Amino acid sequence: MKERLEELKQEALEKVSKSENVQSLKDVRVEYLGKKGPITEVLRGMGKLSKEERPVIGQLANEVRESIAAAIDTKQTRLEDEELEKQLEAESIDVTLPGRPVRVGGPHLLTSIVEEIEDLFIGMGFEIKEGPEVETDYYNFEALNLPKGHPARDMQDSFYITEELLLRTHTSPVQARTMGQKDGNEPVKMICPGKVYRRDTDDATHSHQFTQLEGLLVDKHVRMSDLKGVLNAFAKQMFGAERDIRLRPSFFPFTEPSVEMDISCKVCEGKGCSVCKGTGWIEILGAGMVHPNVLEMAGYDPKEYSGFAFGMGPERIAMLKYGVDDIRNFYTNDIRFLEQYHKA
Ligand SMILES: [Zn+2]
Repeated sequence: MKERLEELKQEALEKVSKSENVQSLKDVRVEYLGKKGPITEVLRGMGKLSKEERPVIGQLANEVRESIAAAIDTKQTRLEDEELEKQLEAESIDVTLPGRPVRVGGPHLLTSIVEEIEDLFIGMGFEIKEGPEVETDYYNFEALNLPKGHPARDMQDSFYITEELLLRTHTSPVQARTMGQKDGNEPVKMICPGKVYRRDTDDATHSHQFTQLEGLLVDKHVRMSDLKGVLNAFAKQMFGAERDIRLRPSFFPFTEPSVEMDISCKVCEGKGCSVCKGTGWIEILGAGMVHPNVLEMAGYDPKEYSGFAFGMGPERIAMLKYGVDDIRNFYTNDIRFLEQYHKA
């Protein structure tokens, strides 16, 4: 019996060491340690043994069983580790492959243009001011020398919320509000960019919503030559040092005298072409010396204080600078259009 048990042990251990996967190990376990296995069979025959032999064989049988079980467990752990290793290797990520590109956004062309203009005026010592887009009739019109019934109001029909509240038609109310805060005895040097609204039919050059950027300087001894110097610096930095400017007489109710500023046409160098309609000049903005009535309404003594103001449309500046031919491109938010102007 002893020999039989030793034989079984050798057989089983050999099969364990030859097993190459978890399943064949399971088979070995069932074969040798199962209820119908040879060791159980040996134990069943113990009844035939003498009293002295029984415990010796019983102990040996247990030892054989334990050593087979231990061998199976050790091998199983090793095989499972190896299998996990293989699986991890098969599923591993190749970090050297190129990644999927991430789309990065950028500022809207209008935002970029406004920021560029802001930087330029901050460099000349101007402050940036903001005001409400829903404005009172007083600040939008009356404080700017446009009393009720003034014919110039017709050009600025707006969206009214009530009789006295409307969507502002220009950023000029910000000028009136800023002057009003100064008690008539402090200088003002500001620009105010922002959205404005007019009842207009949308086409290639008109939009019911657009952007304005206005500037105002009020101080003692401000002259028209100061206005021209500031506008000249703006035009040359925005459109190139070789551009000339010219001022033409114009009319605005809140400035006197009023002017329109043109820059020399970049396309034809002033000779005349289709872009400048043969004139050699392109209109950029409106400006003028602040009307004494406007100064007075804001609390300034027009005999002591004077000032200049100007206003431009950032859309128009962007259209001229980048050759955009339709104002609606700024508001339809077509990524293909906007992407062209993202700065790297
Ligand atoms: Zn031209």
